[in-house]
Amino acid sequence: MECKRCGNKEKTLFAYDPYQKKYYCRKCIAFGRINADEAIKPVTYKTKKHQCRYELKYPLTYAQELAVAEIKMNQQRGKDILIYAACGAGKTELVMDSIMRYLNEGKKVGFAISRRQVVLEIRERMAKAFPTLEVIAVCEGCHEKTDGDLIICTMHQLYRYPNVFDLLIMDEIDAFPYRGNELLETIAGHACKGQRLYLSATPDEAMLKQASRGELAIVELFQRPHGYPLVVPRVIHTYEAIQLLLVIRFLKRCKKAGIQVLLFVPTILEAKRYAKSLRLLFRCTHLTSQSDNKDKTIADFHAKRYDLLVTTTVLERGITIKGIYVAVLHADHIVFNEASLIQIIGRVGRSIEMPQGEALLLCRRITTDIKRCIRAIQKMNETAPQQQTVKLAVNA
Ligand SMILES: [Zn+2]
Repeated sequence: MECKRCGNKEKTLFAYDPYQKKYYCRKCIAFGRINADEAIKPVTYKTKKHQCRYELKYPLTYAQELAVAEIKMNQQRGKDILIYAACGAGKTELVMDSIMRYLNEGKKVGFAISRRQVVLEIRERMAKAFPTLEVIAVCEGCHEKTDGDLIICTMHQLYRYPNVFDLLIMDEIDAFPYRGNELLETIAGHACKGQRLYLSATPDEAMLKQASRGELAIVELFQRPHGYPLVVPRVIHTYEAIQLLLVIRFLKRCKKAGIQVLLFVPTILEAKRYAKSLRLLFRCTHLTSQSDNKDKTIADFHAKRYDLLVTTTVLERGITIKGIYVAVLHADHIVFNEASLIQIIGRVGRSIEMPQGEALLLCRRITTDIKRCIRAIQKMNETAPQQQTVKLAVNA
């Protein structure tokens, strides 16, 4: 017995339906029932040769243009590509050229991301960049329409597209829930009949190894559009009570300068607790995976109704707020691994108006993940100016 959708061959993961007198797969039951050895019904989605172009508010930088050319070259060689770009380097803009080329050749393009919120954001950005295309979002609570010129969906929704995409772009592949999820990987594999483009600011070791073996082309972009280096965090290791005093001092200094802060703590309980006590000194609230009205809290923070937002790793990715600083309490906690620390620090200095800023890591001991995070940021900063020089040389 084998499940044609998820590749499951494990006998215990099939259940018997006495009415139909057939076995069905339990492993991928979340995507609807499918019987053992049942062929996947081919689905046809419309394709046509478009004549689209994309428009950006700011033109691509030299470094971005070079990366775009490198992507194109590798695609022509028939390679899957990993785009390894620093947080805020503009990786979404890098794939627009590929989208345009594939669609204009009459091919089907999909863009898959782990989180629903980001699906909606990317849809907005793509619809703006490609005004002549029908760009659709397919995610939880939003799947009445599943076909359009360009499909933006969550990784989970890829099961609707067996053998459909000539180009499948996958963002945040190192993030929950895609990372290490065999089921989602198989489904993504089935959805793509052509080439893949992976995007990440923090690719995991397995992927980098694949690249070093030459199974995957790698295109790097560490230069942010404004040209400033990534913020290197200040690390202070000390007792917990002193961590709190130091963070309050940091927050007071920021408040005086009119700078908002995202304060990361390891657990939901701590987020609530710290938000409650810091409320005596600052306009402050908390946001965790359990919070209701997340969108409203973020909108209020954007509108500067708070000096401070206490949060967990739930906000480590995807959020862009102009001119914020970040601090991490108990940065030696197990939830803060190398990737999540890089993502957290990547929230700082993203806008052209405020390209610099501060990041503070407070911990009792400096963990390997903290060391690796700093090393990775330094390495990206060392590579970035070279990307700029190469570009200038190419243009000269
Ligand atoms: Zn299955």
